[in-house]
Amino acid sequence: MSAPLPLVYASAYQASIPSDHRFPMGKYGAVHALVSQRPWFAKSVLHQAIPATVQQASLAHDPDYVQRVAHGQLTPGEVRVIGLPQNPTVWERSFASAGGSLLACRLALQTGWAGSLAGGSHHAGPRGGRGFCVMNDVGIALSWLLADETLSRALVLDLDVHQGDGTAEIFANEPRVETVSLHCEDNFPFRKARSDLDLGLPAGTGDSGYLQALNGLLTDITGRARACDLIVVNAGVDPHADDRLGQLALSEDGLAQRDLMVFDWARDLAKPLCVVMGGGYDHRIDVIAERHARVYDRLFQAASRG
Ligand SMILES: [Zn+2]
Repeated sequence: MSAPLPLVYASAYQASIPSDHRFPMGKYGAVHALVSQRPWFAKSVLHQAIPATVQQASLAHDPDYVQRVAHGQLTPGEVRVIGLPQNPTVWERSFASAGGSLLACRLALQTGWAGSLAGGSHHAGPRGGRGFCVMNDVGIALSWLLADETLSRALVLDLDVHQGDGTAEIFANEPRVETVSLHCEDNFPFRKARSDLDLGLPAGTGDSGYLQALNGLLTDITGRARACDLIVVNAGVDPHADDRLGQLALSEDGLAQRDLMVFDWARDLAKPLCVVMGGGYDHRIDVIAERHARVYDRLFQAASRG
């Protein structure tokens, strides 16, 4: 590896919500704690996320919505659709998460590989949030990098079990961002948006069907990826068979093969790759945090191979 693996984190990634809430907020601190204890962590560099600004967030979202997020003025209806309680730590988290994904994208462009220990709030669309997503961190990061001409083209490969509908909507009229989503057709959102390429698999697909589909998808998008400066991967672990929400029924080994297949593909293309965390649902924080931490183990392995 030419440079240490950069990772991005901030304590603000974890907001304060009731511990019995159905969103496993405690996983962000727990993933950071687990990753910090990995033997490979000494060879990585942990960067502090800098919160995105209102101006940056307004490139991906309605500026009025961003202002209301920043001032805790969302309507009860908006809060209900998001599904997270309205409190300052939740809104601060969404700016930190966007800034963290932005920094991770920049670091990936500099070193080839990077990851943020949060992000992947892919259901938030131009006009507002939904599905546990207040603002779309990847949407904000790529919009900003295109606007400041750091990037000319990017590809978002969304492997979370849920379709990346908000990301698809944000970049629907942006030819410089290719949105690709591999998800479970039977999972939320029940009305799918239109990505540049969608592949919705049936519930219960399992490892071999999934990996075959992924392999075909990567072949299909190789030409588009070659034309891009950066690949952003939403590496949600909710395709796992034990996930409380996901229905794709992947084993632990299936998830590992998914990641290695994608990381090898990016390396073969010599394209910078940035990982954001995405979804993963279990009432046991230690279980879901370990499942996410293993994605970063695999990212380090891939980055170590150059
Ligand atoms: Zn998900």
